[in-house]
Amino acid sequence: MIDAPIDILMYHSISNGPGPTCINPDLFRQQMQIMAECGYCGISLSELFVSLKSDQQFPAKPIVLTFDDAFLDFGDIVFPELNARGWNATLFVPAGKVGGTDDWDLKPGRSARSIMSWQAVAELSRQGIEIGAHGVNHLDLTTLPLNAVQHEVVESRRLIEERIGRPVVSFAAPFGRTNSAVREVISQHYQVAVGTELGRARPTSHVWNLPRIEMWYFCNLPRWRAYLLGGARGYFMIRQLLRKARSICLVP
Ligand SMILES: [Zn+2]
Repeated sequence: MIDAPIDILMYHSISNGPGPTCINPDLFRQQMQIMAECGYCGISLSELFVSLKSDQQFPAKPIVLTFDDAFLDFGDIVFPELNARGWNATLFVPAGKVGGTDDWDLKPGRSARSIMSWQAVAELSRQGIEIGAHGVNHLDLTTLPLNAVQHEVVESRRLIEERIGRPVVSFAAPFGRTNSAVREVISQHYQVAVGTELGRARPTSHVWNLPRIEMWYFCNLPRWRAYLLGGARGYFMIRQLLRKARSICLVP
């Protein structure tokens, strides 16, 4: 049982692309190195869930690592970093986009990013990486009729389980967009789910919408080290407020 707040980090692509869903590979490696120097140990979301629900002991300073969208660069850059330290992570796979690109997020001036193959997903699962579901077509679930939500939530799990041969227990809603009806569906098919609300997870957190920390906010490495050592809380709170304000403005 974890009685202190715990951080669930959110990454997407580890590459030199533009925007907050790309973290430069060198910067990423330094963020990992600072975590290690501060005594942290990377775990998966399902490992956190087990600890929240039981008396099972975990490393003294666990930190949950999550990567959305299963970009090709996870295998090339992230996995070697994790493997070298004996750390784990959760990779959220948009099941219908495997082997394709992030065509849901095309913007002028940015090229599509490649998503890994099923073979790569299955191999990472064999290596111990937790594979979580991220919908089939990477749609905003709050915009869909209930039967389509059911399809996205259930079929994504089925497709992944078929390919990796083991249960899928974690879910991340595309764009972090859920409402109570969507969360109700998710709760029927998964053990735990994360959103994109900025915050620290606590035993009292909503298990179908656990908050995460977008690592783009910690591209400043001295600030990242300070945060891990218990500082930078004023910066974190300001970011929380701004993110909350932005999400409220985006709600139709
Ligand atoms: Zn996504």
